[in-house]
Amino acid sequence: MTDKVVVITGGSRGIGRATALAAAARGYRVVVGYVSNQAAAIEVVAAIEAKNGKAIAVKCDVGSEQDILALFKAADSFGTLGALVNNAGIVGKSGVRVDEMSAERIQQMMAVNVTGSILCAREAVKRMSTKHGGQGGVIVNLSSVAAKLGAPNTYVDYAASKGAIDSFTIGLGYEVAAEGIRVAGIRPGLIDTDIHAAGGEPDRAHRLAHLVPMKRVGTADEIANAIVWLISDEASYVTSAILDVSGGR
Ligand code: NAP
Repeated sequence: MTDKVVVITGGSRGIGRATALAAAARGYRVVVGYVSNQAAAIEVVAAIEAKNGKAIAVKCDVGSEQDILALFKAADSFGTLGALVNNAGIVGKSGVRVDEMSAERIQQMMAVNVTGSILCAREAVKRMSTKHGGQGGVIVNLSSVAAKLGAPNTYVDYAASKGAIDSFTIGLGYEVAAEGIRVAGIRPGLIDTDIHAAGGEPDRAHRLAHLVPMKRVGTADEIANAIVWLISDEASYVTSAILDVSGGR
């Protein structure tokens, strides 16, 4: 159990929401980031408070450095930062080939999924690194099995953004390993959340379930369980590591 703060970007829905609830159940004070769905974020905070947990909702578009600075400022006034979950992520419309992709789409993808995660990690390292007077902590980055599969004819730009997250996880982990900070990644497989609808294919996870060796989609809770293990002391020797939570895919 810990009373430290965990910042979860995109904590209002899907994997982020499940992680917020699981972290609060373990005693963390949870900062629930959201970009537009304030009602969903407020619902997560209420669900945590109903079980005597502590949480606040903070609007933060991780595509905006100003929003990220404000997110961490809010976290500072909530307690001592112990963990960051770089969860916020987007997909573009599914089924668009690279030779049809607009520059705006690619730039937005990289701004949110890559630059946003790196800037959030920067703010977390400034607070948690023993080099800066911090007490250490953990950063978990959400990648995807798409980083390995490449997502051809689906969304190669998304896959490339998650490939960048994998490299970032390894490199940052080495950089801060002797400063009390562990950095780990998770590559979810096909998880039943709203993200598939955002890509224009609500049924995508279920349609492709037969490709998964375990022959089923995963749940947000199954990813959250891995995340809260990684941020716990039970994972104390895990850094610069990336865990597939994908039913074998
Ligand atoms: P989701 O259900 O679509 O939820 C996305 C969350 O991110 C929401 O809380 C949303 O906030 C927030 N968000 C979206 N754009 C944002 C932005 N620009 N700034 C800040 N927050 C933003 O997604 P999910 O399926 O839970 O995915 C979570 C992470 O897991 C992502 O990084 C995704 O790439 C990764 N992942 C998911 C799957 C899967 O099958 N679901 C597989 C592999 C990897 P609002 O509620 O305010 O809109």
